[in-house]
Amino acid sequence: MGYQMPSLLYPAGALEPVISRTTIDLHFGKHMQTYVDNLNRLAHGNEYEGMSLREIVRQAPEGPLLDNAGQVLNHALYFEQFTPLTKANNLPSGTLLSAIRFDFGNFDTMRQKMQDACSALFGSGWVWLAQDERGKLEIMRCHNGDNPLRWKRNPLFGIDVWEHAYYLDYQNRRAEHVKRIWEIVDWEMVESRMDL
Ligand code: MN
Repeated sequence: MGYQMPSLLYPAGALEPVISRTTIDLHFGKHMQTYVDNLNRLAHGNEYEGMSLREIVRQAPEGPLLDNAGQVLNHALYFEQFTPLTKANNLPSGTLLSAIRFDFGNFDTMRQKMQDACSALFGSGWVWLAQDERGKLEIMRCHNGDNPLRWKRNPLFGIDVWEHAYYLDYQNRRAEHVKRIWEIVDWEMVESRMDL
């Protein structure tokens, strides 16, 4: 059986104009599929076959298996955390908003710090809103296919800053892409990932 592609929770064009249908078709349908295929090939017939994705990401030594497992997990979390544009003022609420206020002061400060981290990340990678072992929120810059789980952190919301995530829609304007991504975040999904 191996690892399966998750299903997309919305039509491929539903995140337009923030993320185009073409980008979703390629990013989900081609890039993520390749990571899944590579992971299945690399985990075949060894101790990682049948191991949960999160366990592989926690335990595997650096190398192609970890790179692909990390990217499968990263992209599973990424595509699941979006929802079609529904609100002009799309903000978290409840427990998540309380935690953001406690650890960053307010939502705008957290958002700005995450945007700054995206701009400052050189090359390919991810910026995550994550929780440490005591539940404290922090922003993490992860290179390539790295994930907060490797650092004993719980990944809540991730921004993919590999060029494949935005280049067709925004060309070299990474900051512009990142500025708009907040419009399509499913904050209830993000909150559901918290260790309370
Ligand atoms: Mn990607």
